[in-house]
Amino acid sequence: MSKRLLYVLLDGIGDLPHPDLNYLTPLEAAYTPNLDAIARKGRMGMVYTVGKKIAPESDIAVFSMLGYRFDDNEYVGRGIIEAIGADMDVRDGDLALRGNFATIDSEGNVIDRRVGRNLSDGEASELVKAIIDDVKLTDATFELVHTKGHRVALRIRTETHLSSEITNTDPAYERHKGMGVAKSSDIKLRLAECKALSDDAAALTAARLVNEFTSKSIAVLSKHRINTRRKSMGMLEANCILLRDAGNRLPDVRTLLDIYGLRFACIVDMPVEQGIAKVTGMHAFKAGNMNDYELKATTALKALEHYDCVYVHLKGPDEFGHDGDARGKKVSVEDIDRRFFHIIKDAMDEGICIVVTGDHSTPCIKRAHTPDPVPLLIAQNQNRENDGLNRFTEHNARKGSIGYIMGYDVLNTAISMMNG
Ligand SMILES: [Zn+2]
Repeated sequence: MSKRLLYVLLDGIGDLPHPDLNYLTPLEAAYTPNLDAIARKGRMGMVYTVGKKIAPESDIAVFSMLGYRFDDNEYVGRGIIEAIGADMDVRDGDLALRGNFATIDSEGNVIDRRVGRNLSDGEASELVKAIIDDVKLTDATFELVHTKGHRVALRIRTETHLSSEITNTDPAYERHKGMGVAKSSDIKLRLAECKALSDDAAALTAARLVNEFTSKSIAVLSKHRINTRRKSMGMLEANCILLRDAGNRLPDVRTLLDIYGLRFACIVDMPVEQGIAKVTGMHAFKAGNMNDYELKATTALKALEHYDCVYVHLKGPDEFGHDGDARGKKVSVEDIDRRFFHIIKDAMDEGICIVVTGDHSTPCIKRAHTPDPVPLLIAQNQNRENDGLNRFTEHNARKGSIGYIMGYDVLNTAISMMNG
């Protein structure tokens, strides 16, 4: 059997020292005997996942960490990837956006971008159905699909091509050369008006339709009985959909098989990752829910009997970063260590090379994605030289022999180490 690679991305793992953890990062503070065992056989480094000053969204970060590099405005936008992941009918010239059910006040201030993260799938589907039934757009049709939790994907279609050169109504992210980039978490968030970024009629129409969809859906949501009920129970209302990352064309990228000559599979949960899997030609395995770490580990090992590289995305740590919960993030790392890496670590005895890193930093003190580089670990039994470091932490990774590299170089670095 040829050499094989297990590529684990821990969402938002990178962090900064935090007062609740005696000024350690969650990785440094966590008890991780299994990751430590892998670290002892590894080499480490630091990764700028998309660019040195870019606080990326997960989609573009994952593309980059798989080796894709996009020139300015070449990236199709997360909206399209989400729509593909949700199996929606999208064509060139459609406008596709990612949406969040959110809570706003009567002035348009955003109270919570994710409705307190407790909107059930049943509630979200019913609200989506109400919008589909009651919202009509001028000279346009739309498809709205609930994907997971507070997340939706929206596609707007007219008889002419629409442009994606428009701004987000979601105030937490802005468009930067076709990519979604996190804004600093210090600013006060308000529902933004969608604006055309050019005088082009296709952009003006797109912006007009996004604003029309937004105001008409707010009208439907604000009087929906689900929100009346949530309010009476003291819960946040899902009274708005924040939209971002417009795309208007299908992606045209090489498959991972084409780039590396390796057969890729993945284990993912989120619709955007399912979209990435489809676009890059990875076979996607489902393995339970987000925190079913044992099942994800055993599914990954099984998949490695048939694929050269298995990519696993574990979403756990990121949410704690967004919530500013450093202790929670530390516990999440320990949970992944005990239930995932415990099962994975012996795979090195079968000649499997293990790569552990993140898609971006979500430092708890910043409560948002930041441009800070993420730690990288590449470990295998036959490493002639390892770094002699006992733990996988930001501190150790900065001293590692791999040095500072870019996200799109990680897989090539791992593959050449594996074959070297
Ligand atoms: Zn995040």
